[in-house]
Amino acid sequence: EEHMLRSEKLRLIGELAAGMAHEIRNPLTTVRGFLQIAKEKNYNIEPWYEVIMGEITRISELTGEFLQFSKPHVSNFKVQPLQECIQRVIDLMKSEAVLLGHQIEHEFELDPIYILMDRDKIVQLLINLIKNAFEAMEENGVVFIRLYRVGSLGTIEIQDTGPGIPQEHLDQIFHPFFTTKKTGTGLGLSICHKIVQDHGGTIDLESSPKGTTFRVTCPAVHGSGM
Ligand code: ADP
Ligand code: MG
Repeated sequence: EEHMLRSEKLRLIGELAAGMAHEIRNPLTTVRGFLQIAKEKNYNIEPWYEVIMGEITRISELTGEFLQFSKPHVSNFKVQPLQECIQRVIDLMKSEAVLLGHQIEHEFELDPIYILMDRDKIVQLLINLIKNAFEAMEENGVVFIRLYRVGSLGTIEIQDTGPGIPQEHLDQIFHPFFTTKKTGTGLGLSICHKIVQDHGGTIDLESSPKGTTFRVTCPAVHGSGM
């Protein structure tokens, strides 16, 4: 399988670090400004608790997700069936779906599709995509998850009934820190992209005002493998 060149990796991490510094400085400046004025004028900061906590939560989420890129990644690749892994993710996401008033439906190829995978990473990839789907949809949305095989490739589709992604955003959505959400980090899809790349696969999408489908394709292993 392909591995990113070390120099390429360092370049990416450098870019991300610069982006992170920028993203962290803004909320820190806001919080610092509030506290400074409050102290000087002896204001009661209680009305600002929500704002301050919101900004701190955002920094904490950003740094948490950033670690996914930069922490020395102990990879744990094994040949495993995709069906089992996706079923586990669906079980994990069921209660959140119910809470949000959404539904998850699935249709899997019966024959097990074996992939050389780092299971935790594939779980994280699918959770990121399903979360985005949930966040895009009004109540009563449906996320449809399909798994099928084409020749020597296994394909997972995650389709939602959301409003779609505007044409002018399409070339940015995989960029780190691109977000259209108030409290988004914009790191989810760039993490997805990296995970798929680490598995020698591809990720693409189709989107219309009736919904979006993300499609992840990975090389499959014949039989049960090792
Ligand atoms: P975040 O979820 O923190 O905004 P992501 O990298 O996960 O960051 O997604 C980047 C952006 O891509 C989102 O803010 C949203 O605009 C768009 N997006 C991703 N998935 C979907 C989807 N299923 N439907 C509509 N827009 C989406
Ligand atoms: Mg996201």
